[in-house]
Parts: sequence; structure tokens; C-alpha cells
Amino acid sequence: MNLILLGPPGAGKGTQAERLMSRYDIPQLSTGEMLRAAVAEGSDLGKQAKIIMEAGNLVPDDLMIKLISERIGHEDCANGFILDGFPRTTAQAQALDAMLVERDLRLDKVISITADEEALIERISGRFSCADCGAGYHDSFKQPRAEGVCDECGGGNFERRKDDNRETVMARLDTYRKQTAPIIPYYEGDGRLVQVDGMAEITAVGDAIQALL
Ligand code: ADP
Ligand code: AMP
Repeated sequence: MNLILLGPPGAGKGTQAERLMSRYDIPQLSTGEMLRAAVAEGSDLGKQAKIIMEAGNLVPDDLMIKLISERIGHEDCANGFILDGFPRTTAQAQALDAMLVERDLRLDKVISITADEEALIERISGRFSCADCGAGYHDSFKQPRAEGVCDECGGGNFERRKDDNRETVMARLDTYRKQTAPIIPYYEGDGRLVQVDGMAEITAVGDAIQALL
């Protein structure tokens, strides 16, 4: 199963990827996560990406295409993958199609998750995650079952993203509108796109996605 989760920041892509990963035994390939790891590591890619990410802009296409092209060749993608945060431009979408043809793979679905801008800002402002396993939470909408303890790994260290502040969020939403939303017609054109209402509760969004697969 090869899937793309498409949608503005805060729509719920990472949240829904968690459920899809365990259901289909396929990895979530989050380019944002990969870049944050590169920044933490201080690699050349991380050094280039840091300032761009903090400004809410996009890292250059050639770097992102190289990153994903290499990643989908890993053994853990044998059953497929969930792309989260890639593609984000038409050039990335076209490069992805070429990569898939080269490997004799195809996309099963492009799942576009929609949500109102006000909700996106509220979600991003309250987002935090487990520093040990990456499980995602929210101050109001998805608290860990036991306070201060990760549901998934039992860890007690949580973190918030540096770019999850109001100012950067506005820039990221603007970047999404201008550079990423235009790829929706690219996938709509050949029937690969399905749309899901991301304003519903987390489990209801998951059920709606499930029904489409
Ligand atoms: P994305 O990966 O699209 O940027 P996330 O999956 O990280 O978004 O979700 C952003 C925040 O909103 C997280 O804190 C998450 O717990 C919360 N969230 C996700 N889906 C919903 C939903 N349907 N309703 C309410 N909150 C949600
Ligand atoms: P995300 O975790 O998906 O919200 O991504 C965080 C940030 O990483 C974005 O605001 C971009 O700066 C950068 N980024 C992630 N994925 C891509 C991509 N496919 N193309 C360009 N930049 C990206």
C-alpha cells in the first residue's frame, strides 16, 4: 500500500499516519521528521534546512527529492509507505511519479485531509509529542491517558516543535496555500485523490480514511 497524506500543517497527517502504519505494517515517511533529525544531527542538510524551516519556507526541491528517492528504497518499504509532508510542490509530485515508474510501483491513494484555518492554528499551538518515540498529542484534543506518561512507550519526556509558534504557523499556512495546494489538481486529474473532512474527531477521521482504502 503506497499512500500520500496531503493537507495543510495541523490537518492531522501525522496523527492518521500512526494508525495506518500499524494497520498496514508500512512506515510513515515524514520529510519534516527527517529534516528535524538532520537539524538535530547538525548534518549539511540540517544546516541548510534549519533557517528555512524556522521561517516556514520550503527546503529546495532537489534536496527533498533526493531524500525521498533514497528513503523509499529502504527494506522497511517492501510493503509500501505513507508519505507525510511530501510532495509539497508540483516539481516534487512529478519527481515522485518518475521515481515510482522507475521502481515499478504505483500510488494507491492520495488522501487529502481538509480543515479550517482557525482549527489548524489551534491544533498546531497545542501540539506536543513524545521525545522518545515521537507519538503525537494535543493539550486539548489528545492528552496521554495517564498524565505525563506516553501511551505508546511509557516515556515521560515530551517536546514541542520550534516552528509551532503563531508567527511561523501563519507563514507555513501561506506557503501551503501558494506552493502545495496547487498540487491537488495534479492528483485529481487522474482519479488518485480522495478527500477527507479533517474537522471531525480523530477516530472519525481515521474511520473515514479506512472506508476509502
Ligand atoms: P500534521 O501532521 O498534519 O501537521 P498532526 O497530526 O500533528 O498534523 O496534528 C496536529 C495537532 O492536532 C496534534 O496535536 C494532534 O493531536 C491534533 N489533531 C489531529 N487530528 C485532529 C482532529 N481530527 N481533531 C482534533 N485535533 C486533532
Ligand atoms: P512538517 O513536519 O511536514 O510540518 O514540515 C516542517 C518543515 O519542514 C516545513 O515547514 C518545511 O520547511 C520543511 N519541509 C518538510 N517537508 C518538506 C518538503 N517536502 N519540501 C520542502 N520542505 C519541506
